[in-house]
Amino acid sequence: MIPRPPPRDGALGYLYLPPYRIQGVSIAGEATSIQIPEMDVCFDMGSCPRSALAAKFCALTHGHMDHVGGLAYWCSQRNFQGMGPGTIICDARIEDDVRGMLDGYNALERQRTPYEIKTLSDGEEIQIKNNIMLRAFRTEHTCPSTGYVILEKRTKLKEEYVGLPQEKLRELKQRGTEIVNHIEIPQIAFTGDTLPGPHLLNDDVRKAKIIITECTFFEPDHKKRAKVGMHMHVDDLAEWLRVTECEHMVVGHISRRTHLGVARKQLIEAMGNELAQKVFFLMDHRSNRARYEIQEEEARKLEAEQNKP
Ligand SMILES: [Zn+2]
Ligand SMILES: [Zn+2]
Repeated sequence: MIPRPPPRDGALGYLYLPPYRIQGVSIAGEATSIQIPEMDVCFDMGSCPRSALAAKFCALTHGHMDHVGGLAYWCSQRNFQGMGPGTIICDARIEDDVRGMLDGYNALERQRTPYEIKTLSDGEEIQIKNNIMLRAFRTEHTCPSTGYVILEKRTKLKEEYVGLPQEKLRELKQRGTEIVNHIEIPQIAFTGDTLPGPHLLNDDVRKAKIIITECTFFEPDHKKRAKVGMHMHVDDLAEWLRVTECEHMVVGHISRRTHLGVARKQLIEAMGNELAQKVFFLMDHRSNRARYEIQEEEARKLEAEQNKP
């Protein structure tokens, strides 16, 4: 017998929740790095999967190693491949420490890797795309921590002006009349590691179409452990999901020791089958692949239908 080769590194988690792709890795204590390619953003950089290089922004939730371990590599590889400096978004409370880490690499490498840092405090936002904002909200973890909501900003003509000719509207506008309402549509909320609490019930989070969150503990007798580590337990998830308006909840940060089949059973037990249908485990490759194949098949059928003479 010769020694066996090492296990192959796991595949990335992948979900297509139209119009967004949610992809990356998220395993408690190992690495979390979840990218939304449509939004040019990657939440956390615990490791740096190749695909994450394409993200222009990296929004950090907190400084634990499993969330920042790949950050220096991300900055370096983006630079190396001529993709321009990455922009790190983080809580103002950890800015100096993030800089300190990256400066440490600069010193070791005897070269300067460019990066930009934008800090956000609770409620502050930054534009990441046309009409798309990333807004921060405080979360509760064992170190300074932040969640984010991606909001789409739209303007809608006020009801009283609907149907007026363009010329008339232009005239009103020139006279300084506000003819539109500004609306915000929360698309995706990302909590990072956190305890449950009122911060998960603010309108931005509660109304987001997709919530990406963590659930580190599933066993009924692990509630205390969840509290100590300031993480979510499946019962917290159940209670929370009942009062959110999300269409989908994507759950990461499940421990490698947790059997996903068992976790799914515990999820159903905690929230009932109907609510549990909204929940996806990012790293449940088998279920997610099966779901994707159905999506593919449906798209193929639709296309065939549309191409019929
Ligand atoms: Zn973590
Ligand atoms: Zn953490």
